[in-house]
Amino acid sequence: MSRPRKCRRVNSLPVFVRFRPQGIPLRRVKRVILSLDEFEAIRLADYEGLEHAAASERMNISRPTFTRLIEAAHGKMAQALVEGAALIIEGGAVAVEGDFCRCPRCGAAREHRRGGHHERCGYCGTEHDCNDTQPAT
Ligand SMILES: [Zn+2]
Repeated sequence: MSRPRKCRRVNSLPVFVRFRPQGIPLRRVKRVILSLDEFEAIRLADYEGLEHAAASERMNISRPTFTRLIEAAHGKMAQALVEGAALIIEGGAVAVEGDFCRCPRCGAAREHRRGGHHERCGYCGTEHDCNDTQPAT
């Protein structure tokens, strides 16, 4: 029996979770699935520029585990680019810190604001009430 995977701490969600070649329906392209913990590894190391040791601490995992995670993530991103596949970000053994919601029109994620705020989506411009939107995870 395999050991249960420890949840990886994630502090942020991707703004959008589906990327595909322009003009081709998602159903017609190969899909590469990037997990939320792989996305977080890329965000911390490649986007924020953290060393692997610091990034692994932020995710509450060992450094060798972080290195395996980001190597897998790089491989998947390379596969999507080289093969012209869609990149879908979903799943993974993660514990998301924070409260996020998604725009009902375009699906953009952002931090959830409680208390009946009427907000304009920064991506598509749709106005909506945070209280009416679904949690992002
Ligand atoms: Zn939107």
